[in-house]
Amino acid sequence: MGTAAEFEPWFAPATPRTPGRAAVVGAGIAGACVSQALRRHGWEVTLIDRHGAAAMEASGNPVGVIMPRVTADDGIESRVHAAAWDFALRTFDALDDAAIARQRCGALLLAADAADEARCARIASDGLLPATQVAFLDASAASDVAGCKITRAALYFPQAGTLSPPHLCRALGGDILRADVRSLSHTVDGIVLRDADGAACATADVVVFANALSATLAAPWLPLTARRGQITLAPPTPSSTALKCVLAGEAYVTPLRDNRHCLGATFDWTDAHAPQPVRDEDHARNLASLATLCGDLFADVDRDALAGRAAVRCMTPDHLFVSGPVPDRDTFNTDYAGVRHGQHWRSYPPARYVPGVYVLTGLGARGVVTAPLGAELLASHITGAAWPLARELVTALHPARFLLRDLKRVRN
Ligand SMILES: Cc1cc2nc3c(=O)[nH]c(=O)nc-3n(C[C@H](O)[C@H](O)[C@H](O)COP(=O)(O)OP(=O)(O)OC[C@H]3O[C@@H](n4cnc5c(N)ncnc54)[C@H](O)[C@@H]3O)c2cc1C
Repeated sequence: MGTAAEFEPWFAPATPRTPGRAAVVGAGIAGACVSQALRRHGWEVTLIDRHGAAAMEASGNPVGVIMPRVTADDGIESRVHAAAWDFALRTFDALDDAAIARQRCGALLLAADAADEARCARIASDGLLPATQVAFLDASAASDVAGCKITRAALYFPQAGTLSPPHLCRALGGDILRADVRSLSHTVDGIVLRDADGAACATADVVVFANALSATLAAPWLPLTARRGQITLAPPTPSSTALKCVLAGEAYVTPLRDNRHCLGATFDWTDAHAPQPVRDEDHARNLASLATLCGDLFADVDRDALAGRAAVRCMTPDHLFVSGPVPDRDTFNTDYAGVRHGQHWRSYPPARYVPGVYVLTGLGARGVVTAPLGAELLASHITGAAWPLARELVTALHPARFLLRDLKRVRN
């Protein structure tokens, strides 16, 4: 879906690699998906995490909602999310439902208000998802699907539902080497990763940094920011047991499983390195948001029985994840200095990259759905395999987009 010649020079594909040794730093959903994708392409993968176990940070929630992110336009973001949903479904469908604790229950995205109903109807009729994957339902039909009273029209996604991100990480990732990677150096044997004591943890031909905010170790200029999120695990109420599908909108709630519902999630600025304790006030905020969505479903929940989990999401300013080779910032700024002066028409050399170093990060609030496609795209960057996306989407997700943006901004 795009050849090297079609790419602008600053997004020129890196030289393809033949299968060899890959080290993947980070055993969350990003690292697990990359490990699986590279193994499929014939690579020998070492998956590394500072916890020595999978899904200990953002990917550690026991329940993750899987549903498409839809908008009423067909812009870059919508197209990336439509493609990600399609790829995620194929990835999850190839796995045993029990292995990933998947609930095939469907999801309703409730219209925010009467005006929003028209937008939802437009998404269902003109949007990027096929009719088999989205339907517009009035409040009565939505109530039938939900098993409880819904007062607004909604978009219904029959293939949506929930799964357990930690189960998914374990199903895809494989064995994990415990190491807190702090530096890398290029040697004749390959790229050597070292921990804080300078001890070598792994040597590989390519290294993928799939370690969320810490991917700045490989590309310090990536504009990644942290947002805390807390989910609430709630026992059933007399009315909530009837819920048959995920309800989503300003908040979300999942149907009962293992005698609890998952409600979420808060979204707050935070210090990336601060501890993230579960807070009662965040449970209260989750319940209040949910009340605007589905009335008194949880009005009489036993608040003393609430549990939860808090973690940090890794965000990008354009809300798109980052997948690709790491440009060498100094040569990038030198090679494309003309762009700073508005000289887009000039002939420029193809981009130069830090040899063998790649990133998959910035998965934000939808990583369970976007990671499989992000990993497949990264595997294409490494191996030269056919792109899973159109050229303009490959470049929209490319790490170099931030360097290019900065060059264009600081015009003189
Ligand atoms: C409260 C909450 C609710 C969410 N709900 C949903 C949802 O319903 N559906 C959905 O699709 N998404 C959801 N998300 C988003 C999703 O969880 C994230 O997008 C996804 O988990 C990000 O995965 P990741 O692998 O990039 O990051 P992480 O899971 O954070 O993994 C990064 C890993 O890198 C490791 N690491 C970091 N630095 C180093 C180092 N130097 N050396 C070694 N290892 C290192 C860490 O230990 C960690 O395991 C939610 C997020 C939160 C916080």
